[in-house]
Amino acid sequence: MKKSNLTRVDRELSLSDPVIGEDECVALKEVIQSGWITMGEMVSRFEREFAQVHECEHAVAVSSATAGLHLSLAALGVGSGDEVLVPSLTFVATANAAWYVGATPVFVDIESVERPQIDLNDARRKLSSRTKAIVIVHYGGWLCPVDQWRTFASEHGLFILEDAAHVSGLNGAGKSGDAAIFSFYGNKNMTTAEGGMVLVGNEELALTIRRLRSHGMTSQTLDRYEGHAFTYDVTDLGYNYRMDDLRAALGLVQLGKLSSFNKLRANLLKQYRDELLLKASDVNVPFDKNEETTGHLCPVVLPRQAPREDIMLRLRKMGIHSSIHYPPVHRFTYYENKLGVQNLPQTDEYARHELSLPLHPGLSRSDVIYIVDRLVESLGS
Ligand SMILES: *Cc1c(COP(=O)(O)O)cnc(C)c1O
Repeated sequence: MKKSNLTRVDRELSLSDPVIGEDECVALKEVIQSGWITMGEMVSRFEREFAQVHECEHAVAVSSATAGLHLSLAALGVGSGDEVLVPSLTFVATANAAWYVGATPVFVDIESVERPQIDLNDARRKLSSRTKAIVIVHYGGWLCPVDQWRTFASEHGLFILEDAAHVSGLNGAGKSGDAAIFSFYGNKNMTTAEGGMVLVGNEELALTIRRLRSHGMTSQTLDRYEGHAFTYDVTDLGYNYRMDDLRAALGLVQLGKLSSFNKLRANLLKQYRDELLLKASDVNVPFDKNEETTGHLCPVVLPRQAPREDIMLRLRKMGIHSSIHYPPVHRFTYYENKLGVQNLPQTDEYARHELSLPLHPGLSRSDVIYIVDRLVESLGS
């Protein structure tokens, strides 16, 4: 059936579709037939290749980015009484990880509506004698100014973590922090359904994260199977945050396609920018058009007076899904109960007017035109 630009009720334009095909099926089948289904050679290979793509020394595959954030903070010794600086404009997992280790998240505002990234000046204001670590989030696919953050962290003796959930495959991602945590959840730029990776430069830290990933044990099933070890000790309180070989096999196939996925996304994003500039110049796409991005999200900022929820409903009736990235974490009930009402004016302003449009490699250029035209109509009426 040929796609039509005029009536699109026959096809839903979802926010994000995973691109999974025959290659992934073959890879899964091979793992099943091999008889070794978890923490085997596939996981090691996935770790090696992911580290290589990001030019990083060590990689530890984990069950999710949330698990990776938790392990990284735990391995760095962040804990009770410590404060962790985090943006509020992020997925809730970024901040939750601080609570997991007994620390307190302290929210930092974004730079501006045009640059919705964690703000260095506000981070400086939020420092206290208890601040131990900072988690920067490469929101939407754009890299934070990592050199500045690196300098800031070393000036104040802080650990720095990169929440790199949006930037798999991006130049420079995973190189400036003590650890960088990537997500392979179903809506990310590459997927293993559920899964994550921690990139680390320091070997000792990598070993600690590796040990904590699997109950704090000093040897793994594969080591014992291969006769490298006969028993094990438990040296720390660890977790079961392992990745299995099925997911690793998916990850290896997806990793091979990542740079083409990212290019497709970045090109579609550029097209959104051009179309919007032409047809709705009061709708802004944040960040500079020349900055490199993985195109994880297509965030737009609507005019102040635009009724966002109505617009989302209108778009939905025409088969276009949209979303908000993010409802700010400091506004969630759990967080307000724990920390009280926080004042983050830039984050609040951005989050009130932001709308995320569909962006994934399965979209065509005519889809983007269709979406922008429907958005323009929805704004006008
Ligand atoms: C998706 C996401 C996470 C969590 O990833 P999981 O793999 O689902 O645990 C953390 N931070 C950000 C910014 C995310 O987008």
